[in-house]
Amino acid sequence: MEKTAYLDNAASSPMRPEALEAMFAHAKERYANPSAIHALGQAARKALEASRGEVAALIGADASEIVFTSGATEANNLAIRGVIGPLLEAGRPVHAVTTALEHASVLKTYEALEKRGLALTVVQPGPDGLVRTEDVLGAVRAETALVSVIAASNEIGTLQPVEAIGKGLKRVPAAPLFHVDAVQAVVSADADMRSSQADLFTVSAHKIGGPKGVGALGVRKGVKLAPLFAGGGHEGGLRSGTENASGIAGFGAAASALRSSRAAEIGRYQDLRARLVAALPPGAKPLIGSGVPVAPHVLAIECAGKENDWIVLLLSRAGVMAAAGSACKSGSREASTVVRALGLDDARARSVIRASFGFATDEKDADAFADALASALRH
Ligand code: PMP
Repeated sequence: MEKTAYLDNAASSPMRPEALEAMFAHAKERYANPSAIHALGQAARKALEASRGEVAALIGADASEIVFTSGATEANNLAIRGVIGPLLEAGRPVHAVTTALEHASVLKTYEALEKRGLALTVVQPGPDGLVRTEDVLGAVRAETALVSVIAASNEIGTLQPVEAIGKGLKRVPAAPLFHVDAVQAVVSADADMRSSQADLFTVSAHKIGGPKGVGALGVRKGVKLAPLFAGGGHEGGLRSGTENASGIAGFGAAASALRSSRAAEIGRYQDLRARLVAALPPGAKPLIGSGVPVAPHVLAIECAGKENDWIVLLLSRAGVMAAAGSACKSGSREASTVVRALGLDDARARSVIRASFGFATDEKDADAFADALASALRH
């Protein structure tokens, strides 16, 4: 079979060789429980703490501020439920602000809490795919406890003004906590917990060349959170359960590799993006305008009059792997709510496909995508 052109890195990336090696070596040699006090346990603990340092360095946090989780879905749940849950339990009026661009792990979590009494404001983006800082700040009330904003959209790639929002939030009297989902932003924008003034900051290993099933929540020193479940009190009491130590070893290695090559990778994504946009066949155009800030590894493409699922299957037959909306809501045939939020009707929203690049994507992949898309649209 011909080489597969893999353009679905925003759903999951292949593992970086460094991460695979670290994970394998860890599983083979450092199998002891990192909480055990014997020498092997201590060796496993040392490796875990080294990975914590790597992830912290990637997001501009202190190692003591990293809580390892089973992925970004859990990290987002921990951030939101961890702040809002105890306030609802105390019977206090609680309000939160988020955006219509969020991943399901944020939006659905808030929707679940609305049923328990949370008041929620969902800020809509403009047709350009950006939320306005003043709309987010303007939604804050005296009882607002938390504001969650996705730094880079996994579906359309737009970069939200998280630094300006973070700065603004520090000035409002309610002083809500600020939660940033930076899962995609860390891939191709130097998103950082400090510069965005985030109190809670979500990342995931499998989007940066690490393994699936590992993620982290950056929790700024002094921020109080309730854990999601009870147990042995691992991860500073915030995430009980023996750590996925070999997965975390892979996460640390991927974070380190990304940190040293990100500037070069961003340049490559920009070139690949320009190349792909220039090669788009008639009937296909970028969903997001050229002047809008984007994470360059995510390119949403509108294919007027066509169904995205159908195009993605035709591309797949030609050996090109792309996405119809977000793979995180697999099985759903509904139009993406994120794309709908830009003001597109249902049919247009269902014509949007996504190509996303990763560390291993090259020009041949971009060219294969453009060729396969041209055939699919002629079909
Ligand atoms: N947030 C964003 C922005 C994402 O892209 C994803 C993965 N699609 C998640 C959260 C969930 O990540 P995980 O698969 O690690 O639970």
